[in-house]
Amino acid sequence: MRNSIAGHAAGTDPVPGSASRFMRLAVREARKNLKSPKGGPFGACIVREGRLLAVARNTVLACDATCHAEVNAIRKVSRRLGTYDLSGCVIFSTTEPCPMCFGAIHWARIGLIVYGTSIADAGRVGFNELRISNAALKILGKSRIRIVDGFLRDECLALFKSWKALPDRTIY
Ligand SMILES: [Zn+2]
Repeated sequence: MRNSIAGHAAGTDPVPGSASRFMRLAVREARKNLKSPKGGPFGACIVREGRLLAVARNTVLACDATCHAEVNAIRKVSRRLGTYDLSGCVIFSTTEPCPMCFGAIHWARIGLIVYGTSIADAGRVGFNELRISNAALKILGKSRIRIVDGFLRDECLALFKSWKALPDRTIY
């Protein structure tokens, strides 16, 4: 069942009743890049047992090419917890994690990815995405990570629409 974490995980909801709230936190964080752009319109947050551990946005333009929202969120949580091992965590990302971020999520042992818009959507806006889906990476890499796609997709897609309307946006 699309758009339902409970349905996707066969009755076990990892973030009971709060999934929309967490995704909207990520969307709100991404929206900051529409007002004071430090990077593209991408946000992410990491949650464990229903508790928010970090929210971050893309800061590629202020930092470097690896400063995607997901990597920034992982770094924040690892600094906070003092470990690379984020087992039991869920990552909410406004857009499907790119292959770099999928790799980082794998290395951090995050168990579930919930995303809104797809890599293909980001590519259509003009971002220089490697067009390899998380579903394909999961199969190629023999990963056991769970993936929920298209979650609050319209709200995440609205970020791209606002981004496209910016007169002085930087695409990378
Ligand atoms: Zn990425």
